[in-house]
Amino acid sequence: MPTDRLPPLPPDELTDAQRHAVAAITAGPRGGVIGPFVPLLRSPELMDHAQRMGEYLRFRSAIGTRLSELVILLIARYWSQQVEWAIHVPIAERVGIARDAIVAIAEGRRPAMLTDDESLVYDFCYELNVSQAVGDSTFERALALAGIRSVVVVGAHPDDIEIGAGGLLLELSAAVPDLKIRYVLCGGAPARQAEARAAAVAFLPAADLTFDLHDLPDGRLPGHWNTVKEIIQQAAKTHADLVIAPSRFDAHQDHRLLGELAMTGFRDQIVVHYEIPKWDGDLGQPNLYVPLTAEQAARKVELLNTHFPSQKVHDWWDDEVFFGLMRLRGMECRARYAEAFFASKLSVSIA
Ligand SMILES: [Zn+2]
Repeated sequence: MPTDRLPPLPPDELTDAQRHAVAAITAGPRGGVIGPFVPLLRSPELMDHAQRMGEYLRFRSAIGTRLSELVILLIARYWSQQVEWAIHVPIAERVGIARDAIVAIAEGRRPAMLTDDESLVYDFCYELNVSQAVGDSTFERALALAGIRSVVVVGAHPDDIEIGAGGLLLELSAAVPDLKIRYVLCGGAPARQAEARAAAVAFLPAADLTFDLHDLPDGRLPGHWNTVKEIIQQAAKTHADLVIAPSRFDAHQDHRLLGELAMTGFRDQIVVHYEIPKWDGDLGQPNLYVPLTAEQAARKVELLNTHFPSQKVHDWWDDEVFFGLMRLRGMECRARYAEAFFASKLSVSIA
C-alpha cells in the first residue's frame, strides 16, 4: 500500500486562510473537505476556486444531475480514474442512470439502452475523449439540452404577472440557476411599478432580471395600440425560450390586447398565456398545467400579499381566491395545487 503523500492536514495546524476555505466547503452541499480537496487544501485559495466551480457543475448544472453524473462516469472511465468512478457510481444510480448502462460503461461498451438525452451525452463525451473535438451535428444536438434559460414575461398591470404565473416563476427560479428574465410591464404609476419590481425580485431571487416598465394608463391600452405593439416588438428582440403573457381570451381589454400582440411579436418561441380571476368570470378551459406543492402555493399567496399592499383594498383580493383557483387547477391535473395556462403554440423536436 503506497503512503499518502498529501494526507489530511491536522486541524490545529491550519492557517487562517485554510480555516476559511474549510468553513466555506463545509457550509456547501459537500459538507466537508473530501476527495481531491484534501490535498488541495495546501493551497486554500486554489481549493476555494476549484470547489466552487465543482459545486456549480455538480449541483447547479444547467443539464441537471442525471446527465452531469453520466458525464462524470464517462470521463472517469476514459481516464480510468477509480476514485472518481467509485464515488460517482452510487450517485449516478441514485439519480436514475440504469445499472446496465453503468456496467457497459465500465466495460468500455456503448450502453444498449440509453434515453435520448443520455445517448446525446454519450456521443458528445465519446467524440470529445476520442478525437478531442465534437462534430457540428452533435454540438447542435447538445445545444437543445440547455432547455429554458431565458424568459420574457409580459403584463398589463403590476400584479398581473405574479397573480397569473407567480407559481411558474417560483418553479423556474428554483429549477434554472442562471435564468434570464425580461420583465415587461405596460402600465403602472411609479409607486405601483416599485411594487412590481420588488415582487419580481422576491419571486425570482436567483434570476438575472431586466425591467422594461412603462406607464400607459390603466384600462386604455387598446387606445395606445401603436405603443403597445412597439413594446412587444422591442421585447421580442430579446432571445427567449419561453414567453409568458396574458390570455387572448381575457375579458379585460388591456390583458386581451397584450395576449393578441404577444402572438404576433413572438413567432418562434413557446408562448403560454396565464389566467387572472376577475368579476367578469372569464376563466376558461386551459390546456397546460404547472403543478405546485402546498408550500409553493402558500409562498405565492404570501408574496402577493407582501408585495402588492396597494391592491389589498380590492374586494376580490383575498387568499381564498388565489388558493381556490390554484386548488381547482390542481384538481384538474391531479396535483394538490397548480397554475393553468393556454399554450397557443408549442414547437417540439422529436429527436
Ligand atoms: Zn391586470
